[in-house]
Amino acid sequence: MNLKGKRALITGSASGIGHGIAKRFVADGAKVAIADLSLVAAERTAKELTEMGPGEALALEMNVTDEAAVNAGVAEMVKVWGGIDVLVSNAGIQIVHKLEDFPFNEWKKLLSIHLDGAFLTSKAVLPHMYEAGSGSIIFMGSVHSKEASPLKSAYVTAKHGLLGLARVISKEGAEHGVRANVICPGFVKTPLVEKQIPEQAKALGISEKEVVEKIMLGDTVDTEFTTIEDVANVAWLFAAFPTNALTGQSLVVSHGWYMN
Ligand code: NAD
Repeated sequence: MNLKGKRALITGSASGIGHGIAKRFVADGAKVAIADLSLVAAERTAKELTEMGPGEALALEMNVTDEAAVNAGVAEMVKVWGGIDVLVSNAGIQIVHKLEDFPFNEWKKLLSIHLDGAFLTSKAVLPHMYEAGSGSIIFMGSVHSKEASPLKSAYVTAKHGLLGLARVISKEGAEHGVRANVICPGFVKTPLVEKQIPEQAKALGISEKEVVEKIMLGDTVDTEFTTIEDVANVAWLFAAFPTNALTGQSLVVSHGWYMN
């Protein structure tokens, strides 16, 4: 199994986990569209990865909640490379509040980026995958697709929702050779998590050290963060796996925080 010549769209790939997945795919010879809010950041990543090789990367400015922007980005990618083999719907944010304090506009913003983003990007790529008779759709879930934590009502709701969407796509896509799966990482040290540490400490009235050691890593088998490379290896597996045998699944990569 390898990704040589495969064309992948990865959202939110100018930073963090998405960036790491793009790097892993390009290192294996894939062509990767780096889709993110900032074209400048996407171009920086695309340049870095193309120079690294042996694959190549292309920058796309894309807000995943904007249907026109998603469709335009997918059209651009298909114009340049002639099709799309893999979607990694990864763009995401975190907002933490107790439910009774959660501003409605922030709830809607979070759900829109995670769920509308997964829906719109899937809707845009599926016709191309169906035409080709194959494809792999990967959603970035979380341990929070299976577990709950205080302060994270919107995030937990969105990440649980992605499991349902992937299962429907796996059933609708099967006759066209299209698979859909979800990666469920534990805590990974990216800007998204760095931002949460002081926020959670304040909301829960504990120290930042306690947030890391008790809240984030307390239930792992070895109190270690999951790494970007760990998650990228799981993405590689879902992307490269060649048959419908592996579809409708979710794989937890979390140092044993959640076991199923
Ligand atoms: P990150 O903040 O480093 O990267 C997120 C990227 O998404 C950024 O480049 C950002 O610009 C982009 N983005 C945000 N809103 C967007 C939008 N509307 N349209 C397009 N791009 C947008 O965060 P990360 O930790 O790498 O998170 C990536 C994904 O992994 C998210 O879905 C997150 O929920 C998930 N995840 C993260 C962790 C973790 O511990 N870091 C754990 C489990 C799951």
